[in-house]
Amino acid sequence: MILRFEPGTSEARIHALVARLEREGKRTALSPEAGRAIVAVIDPISAALLAELRQQPEVREVCETSGPWRRADRAFRDSPTVVSIGGVLVGGGSIVVIAGPCSVEGEAAIEEAAEIARRAGAQLLRGGAFKPRTSPYAFQGLGREGLRQLKRAGERRGMPVVSEVMDASQLPAFMDEGIDCLQIGARNMQNFTLLKSAANAGRPVLLKRGLSATVVEWLQAAEYLLAHGCDDVILCERGIRTFETATRNTLDLTVLPLLREWTHLPILVDPSHAAGIPSVIPALARASIAAGADGVAVEAHPSPREAWSDGAQALLPGELAALIAEVRMIAAVLGGRFAAHGRACAGSSSRSPASP
Ligand code: PEP
Ligand code: MN
Repeated sequence: MILRFEPGTSEARIHALVARLEREGKRTALSPEAGRAIVAVIDPISAALLAELRQQPEVREVCETSGPWRRADRAFRDSPTVVSIGGVLVGGGSIVVIAGPCSVEGEAAIEEAAEIARRAGAQLLRGGAFKPRTSPYAFQGLGREGLRQLKRAGERRGMPVVSEVMDASQLPAFMDEGIDCLQIGARNMQNFTLLKSAANAGRPVLLKRGLSATVVEWLQAAEYLLAHGCDDVILCERGIRTFETATRNTLDLTVLPLLREWTHLPILVDPSHAAGIPSVIPALARASIAAGADGVAVEAHPSPREAWSDGAQALLPGELAALIAEVRMIAAVLGGRFAAHGRACAGSSSRSPASP
């Protein structure tokens, strides 16, 4: 349940209503929205209390959330959340491109890869230093040294950097090396201990969708981050596991219009891990932007055949440049029209997804 107050309602009145709810044992959360008060009631409330709230003149709307989340709900903000990653804005109408290799493979390699990403027009540089590999014998990443090399390569080119954190014990290294955005990978989407620790780190978080996670589970993982102090959450669709084996995963573009109705959070798409096949990645990137994504995250490598991880899906430098030019063209044609958010107040519970 989300209470949206009339603009100009005094703080005293808001506090009085919050105190009333807390006397009933209901937890509340105040929206970071500037300009007007929006309060989420975390716990379910009785019909009598609901009727009482609706009667308050300062309460303009009482909105049901679209699902079992509160802070992530569309009605918790007036405007879409715009996340700044080291000054690069994600969400709110402009298109962002994150590009780089799957893994940082050493100083010279990340410098070359960063230059390719910058020349192609990407604003943010990616590169894994702690890699979640299916085989324990596969390259596991350069660790802290990889973070240092990534950050240096980004700094030299004015590109903030994104890298995956797999465990809370790695967070101090991410902080010390100045990693601008923490990626939580698909395999860790429901690692709730990690989500809580990452939320506390004071950096934006890119939350990838789990390999077999429903949208409802994904948004609740985002809610963990929001509930533990991180307002700067970006969702990233990266394909889900289905019966289809022709592609690495199946890209679920349905989430784009759906999430626009359910949440205020920005949404990116990673077509590289979704498809796993370079030749189909550009079309998926274009389709993502057309369906309302705030941007894309793609893997590229100067010589994919020699890459230490995910080389089979890495784009060549020219392919990356073409992809970025194309997504910008699509964004320009649409002019932000489809990035607009759906109704803030979902209203009827009949539209809600089932709670797991
Ligand atoms: C990655 O970005 O390199 C990665 C491992 O992604 P995902 O968690 O989506 O598989
Ligand atoms: Mn990868």
